[in-house]
Amino acid sequence: MELTNFYRQIIGIEQPWQISEVKIDTLDKSVHLNLSHAPSSQFPCKHCKKLCNLYDHSKERTWRHLDTCDHYTYLHASLPRVQCAEHGVCTIEPSWSRANSRFTLQFESFIIDTLQSTPVRCRSAMQLRLSEEQLKRIQRQAVERGLSNRKSLKQDALYTVRHVCIDEKSLFREHHYVSILRLYNLSIILRDVFQFVFHTPHDGESIMTDEFSLPS
Ligand SMILES: [Zn+2]
Repeated sequence: MELTNFYRQIIGIEQPWQISEVKIDTLDKSVHLNLSHAPSSQFPCKHCKKLCNLYDHSKERTWRHLDTCDHYTYLHASLPRVQCAEHGVCTIEPSWSRANSRFTLQFESFIIDTLQSTPVRCRSAMQLRLSEEQLKRIQRQAVERGLSNRKSLKQDALYTVRHVCIDEKSLFREHHYVSILRLYNLSIILRDVFQFVFHTPHDGESIMTDEFSLPS
């Protein structure tokens, strides 16, 4: 199997994107995947999601992806700008990354999994070959997304709580605790965000009251 086909399958790049080139740098142990598309391709406007014609391209960007056999792996692409009848010219959002992120979604997901399984951030950073600042930023953004998701979900008419788990964890040294309220067996979104969303100051009863307005 050709290298480009191999990477297309394992990375899951979708049409109209294709991997046009794979370069391996043996000196710094890195793999570089150049992404491109056919000139006539259309892309969805990031505001209204309607398919629009290509206007031009923004300058090339790079995203770090999951390592390949201990080699740093990077995607490179110039993101198209499209001409939307309603929203004018705008840069598309790539399917493999969040807007303005320097990491692919798969790599960010792996980072969050690592942070959840290893409480010591500096060790996670070392293992992932990232700086602690990068980890903090990714973690903070994940918390913000979780809070936003929870807010949206709670405004949904179908939002129903059936089971909750409550736990108490110690933090740092001496007597610092947090009570963790976790929704169990609900939607995928909630399971994804609970680890960050429901951390509150120590007081199990008050967080239940705050979250669900239980009758006293
Ligand atoms: Zn639009």
